[in-house]
Amino acid sequence: MPGVIFPDQQEILNVAIIGSGLGGLSAAIALRRQGHAVTIYERYDFGGEVGASLSVASNGSRLLQQWDVDIKAAKPVVLRSLIMHDWATGEITSTYDLGDYRAKFGTDYNNFHRIDLHNVLKQTAVQEQGKGTPCKLEVWHKAVEIDPEGGLITFENGKKVVADVIIAADGIRSLARLQMGITPKFVASTSCCYRCIISADRLRQLGLEEYLNNNAIEFWGGYGINKIVLSACSDNNVVSCYCFYPAELNDVREDGWNLSTTPANLVKTFPGLDPKLHSLFINAEDIKMWRLYNHDPYPYWAKGKCALLGDAAHPMVPDQSQGACMAIEDAGALGIIFSPKYGHLQVNERLKLYEMTRKERATRVQSASGRARTDLSERIGWSSSTDRPGKLTIEEICGYDIHAHVAQLAEQL
Ligand SMILES: Cc1cc2nc3c(=O)[nH]c(=O)nc-3n(C[C@H](O)[C@H](O)[C@H](O)COP(=O)(O)OP(=O)(O)OC[C@H]3O[C@@H](n4cnc5c(N)ncnc54)[C@H](O)[C@@H]3O)c2cc1C
Repeated sequence: MPGVIFPDQQEILNVAIIGSGLGGLSAAIALRRQGHAVTIYERYDFGGEVGASLSVASNGSRLLQQWDVDIKAAKPVVLRSLIMHDWATGEITSTYDLGDYRAKFGTDYNNFHRIDLHNVLKQTAVQEQGKGTPCKLEVWHKAVEIDPEGGLITFENGKKVVADVIIAADGIRSLARLQMGITPKFVASTSCCYRCIISADRLRQLGLEEYLNNNAIEFWGGYGINKIVLSACSDNNVVSCYCFYPAELNDVREDGWNLSTTPANLVKTFPGLDPKLHSLFINAEDIKMWRLYNHDPYPYWAKGKCALLGDAAHPMVPDQSQGACMAIEDAGALGIIFSPKYGHLQVNERLKLYEMTRKERATRVQSASGRARTDLSERIGWSSSTDRPGKLTIEEICGYDIHAHVAQLAEQL
């Protein structure tokens, strides 16, 4: 099919996407909608997708809406405020109402269980229904070698494919990045994170149903390393907590999501914390540890026929809740740049335009996430008259017009 010209002059490109996380699937949806022939290659069979909450602000949700993703099917909880609790007593010390978020930014502030969102994106990418050609999904295809100039990918199973465009959405430990000649500079953060989940039924038994019904992201701490972030997801059937603590406490060195710990250990990590949270922790159903890293921005994101996307391009600590949103924005930019409007550009020019559109903005969010790691007042949504100049704002993130941004940069190209 590559090389065929559609009546609207768009050349159909053969696109290979490496990695089927939230970023890779979003890119697949955006590109199939422009008529391209998309294949997603995933090293596993999704056994690795893990569950906890994931908030998708309007900069991400707006693109999901534009792509006709069935947001309701992903069982969102709509967030309406940010609540701050006293560390020791749990008393609410302040509430930041997000106001008429939908009227201002065009979508709800959706909080998903990441598995729910992953399933819906996967379905949207491969199903017959919807705009464009359904994507192909090849699991157990681990890319082991990539030639960015030639568009050649070699997989561990011996298969080789040649593509017109390669989108490397292979996560924070990206192999494609190395094969594009980028050596990441990163340091282990001084923070680690536990995440735990608990069901609505169990919370009700414990008399803690207040956490189910607040429609809020709730914080304890956040000024310094220690911070608890709690929110409900999955149609209010699950509550998840991210619990940040000093890395030196247990010196986790491994990566990944399969590092479990006990409820007792979780409680012990946070002495003097709100007893209601201790009660939640002791009854938590699944507790995992997560190592955090700070990556310097990479010198470039595109080379030849290959471009980085999502955590492969801009890994960030999770304190702005924007990692997946930035990956969705990356995919949104690709969908615009690989539309007929920019069909007169060569693939390498289009990928250059993609890098111009995305790198500066994602880098700004990446560094603001680092600052918010130990200073909650740096998080978007907490604004006050005493904000320092240059702070990342909710308007800048949620009011972003990606179409106008691409059009403006295309003029410069
Ligand atoms: C605990 C936690 C909380 C978060 N909270 C939020 C939030 O509230 N809001 C938000 O916007 N973001 C949040 N994020 C960030 C967000 O989850 C990530 O930024 C996002 O999931 C990155 O998606 P990705 O597709 O780029 O990478 P990944 O999800 O890492 O996906 C990479 C995929 O590539 C596959 N792969 C890797 N190497 C290869 C290979 N060689 N060949 C083939 N396949 C390969 C992997 O198996 C995987 O499926 C959070 C992250 C975490 C961990």
